[in-house]
Amino acid sequence: MSSKNTILVTFWGTRGSIPTPGSNTEKYGGNTSCISVSQGETMVILDAGTGLRNLGLELVRQSARGSHKINLHLLLSHTHWDHIQGLPFFAPAYRAGTHLTVYGSRKKGNFLESILRGQMDLNYFPIELNELAADISIREIGEHQSLTLGRMKVTWEEQVAHPGGSLRYCMVVGRKRIVYASDVELDCIFPPRGDKTRHNRTLIDQYRTMIHGADLLIADGQYTEADYPNKVGFGHSSIELVARLAYEEKVKQVAIFHHEPQYSDTTLDRIWADLSPRYSLASPSMNLFWAREGMTVAI
Ligand SMILES: [Zn+2]
Ligand SMILES: [Zn+2]
Repeated sequence: MSSKNTILVTFWGTRGSIPTPGSNTEKYGGNTSCISVSQGETMVILDAGTGLRNLGLELVRQSARGSHKINLHLLLSHTHWDHIQGLPFFAPAYRAGTHLTVYGSRKKGNFLESILRGQMDLNYFPIELNELAADISIREIGEHQSLTLGRMKVTWEEQVAHPGGSLRYCMVVGRKRIVYASDVELDCIFPPRGDKTRHNRTLIDQYRTMIHGADLLIADGQYTEADYPNKVGFGHSSIELVARLAYEEKVKQVAIFHHEPQYSDTTLDRIWADLSPRYSLASPSMNLFWAREGMTVAI
């Protein structure tokens, strides 16, 4: 049943690292990271991977039906290709009626704006960032800040266990809470692999506190535990660890996200069939599912 607090989460791109078009990725999708989180008139976009293109086309279709001007908040976890490459192909950015605010960590060695401008340099793309018709502002955000967007409150934390770092975001509307924590290598923080330094213990506490009791956790689960030892240091987590931590922290639903480019639909189905019943049949139960392009979840 929907209420004024209902949050709609739509996955526009769920693949990690690089787009993977093809018949063996049709089910879960080949576009890279992009999610929309809507509540009332407020729309937040999490990351601007190639999935952003289809979201843009949908937003233009909706505004052509006369619903409203486009006012968007784009929260970037970080600026690796698979999280920004959709931006030059985002149709609303070419329209004067669009207001787009882009948020990202100020903890980058380079200014966020120069990174986004750089990917639209004429060497890479025919149209430059400042030629876009939309009203675009780029805001660097620091730690211990928060944003209030409509009825949605957004907080974030730095995730250090990823090359160059990344941010995770928490979105709260009323008593509902959604956490987006992609591009983080939890396996190198948590035991048995993570060491017992005070720094690590702080990172563990921060992660557990943020996900505790979440209605939906969208989590980096790029590898199986069996494949992970070959990918240590790549900056991504194993599915089994993410599921175990979420269950311990009483998370209600977990969307495994940032799928490994080498995993076909059949592989992802098999991993899900192996792991998901362990949680759906437990008491209390937890819904562990694989994020799929085009899927909308109501929270
Ligand atoms: Zn990524
Ligand atoms: Zn990354």
